[in-house]
Amino acid sequence: MKIHQIYTHNFLRNFTYILETSDGDYYCVDPWDAGEILKRVPHGKLKAVINTHEHDDHTQGNSELVEKENCEIWAHENAKGKIAGVTRYLSKDEKISLGLDWSMEVMDTPGHTFAHLCLLIKEKERPYAVITGDTLFSAGVGNCHNGGDPGVLYETISAQFQMLPDDVILYPGHEYLENNLKFTLAREPDNQSATELLLKVDKLNMDEDYFATDLGVEKEINTFLRLDKKSIREHLPITPTSDKEVFLTLRQLRNEW
Ligand SMILES: [Zn+2]
Repeated sequence: MKIHQIYTHNFLRNFTYILETSDGDYYCVDPWDAGEILKRVPHGKLKAVINTHEHDDHTQGNSELVEKENCEIWAHENAKGKIAGVTRYLSKDEKISLGLDWSMEVMDTPGHTFAHLCLLIKEKERPYAVITGDTLFSAGVGNCHNGGDPGVLYETISAQFQMLPDDVILYPGHEYLENNLKFTLAREPDNQSATELLLKVDKLNMDEDYFATDLGVEKEINTFLRLDKKSIREHLPITPTSDKEVFLTLRQLRNEW
């Protein structure tokens, strides 16, 4: 099983993913440009497109892929009436085989929108990677401007991502790493891991090369996974009484940043 991360070279900096199973089937997650998918997937092998959520930048390749490959469209059950042509609605904890030893498990992850799913990729029963759409980014989380709720996003992040094993690889829906690291350092100037990663990122050609982080790194550099850290709490404009309040304040600061 292989996960191909495709940077889409658009102003929103989307990533599309192709999952290639050992059985020779392919799945596409969040197609931006159908042409890029058709170049990479053998004709007749695209089993389904999976949309993490209903926003156009995650679904706009759907119709051309259906037209050319006659593939299925899968999405969250709450996407009824929000994404055209869905052939299968996915629900929490559903498991989909990706060939020998590999599977993906559907996570119900509301917050950015209420029709948002993430995909936990497992080898045997061990979590290997997570495809997170606009829920969790490297060094950040999704905004809640278009049909979301930051309080619900807090519940999703703290209940479903905080405890994932450190070696789980993060595959987000957008490439915002450099900007997000700068936000981390604005909140936590003494964050050594974020400082070091930003130096590495600065040396990359960010439209060609990417860092795939894992959850262990995220717990060091992502302020939204560091709500209990004194260094963050001390520098907020309020005196927080709960982790949720820290999260909501950080989300607001990021909106205005
Ligand atoms: Zn979105």
